[in-house]
Amino acid sequence: MINRSDYQTLASLILERKKSGHLLIGSEHILEMLLQVKPYTCLPTLRPHVDPDGRIAWPCRAPKNMDPVYVNLLDYRNVDECWEAADKLKSAANFHGPEPLQCGDNCAWMQNYTTGRYHEFITSPLRSGIFSEIREFVFQNR
Ligand code: SF4
Repeated sequence: MINRSDYQTLASLILERKKSGHLLIGSEHILEMLLQVKPYTCLPTLRPHVDPDGRIAWPCRAPKNMDPVYVNLLDYRNVDECWEAADKLKSAANFHGPEPLQCGDNCAWMQNYTTGRYHEFITSPLRSGIFSEIREFVFQNR
């Protein structure tokens, strides 16, 4: 889809609107990454999708290379216990990637890009662009 010219026209329009001050969720940097499906580190268990009945697809609900396991958050006393039990069923470590035991995808979801940016901020704070992103957030939300 990202190679289609009509998609690129729409993506450019969204970015232009963001740059001109329209209230769009996410920083310019994250929107550009998302709209162009740029590489990122996906950390799906940092923001899991919890179904209305309490179930969580672990480590995420979308892997191409395998099925997720399901755990029910309501079966545990707290999130930490649930995460520990789920991780014993299927490790979430090094899950994102193209190898057979990895997810096999690069889902272009906003939540993945935001957690991916957390990862960049923590692992490479000076090169991540965190300060310009904070400045953008502060000045655009006045
Ligand atoms: S990129 Fe991989 S780990 Fe991340 S949500 Fe998609 S399938 Fe799951």
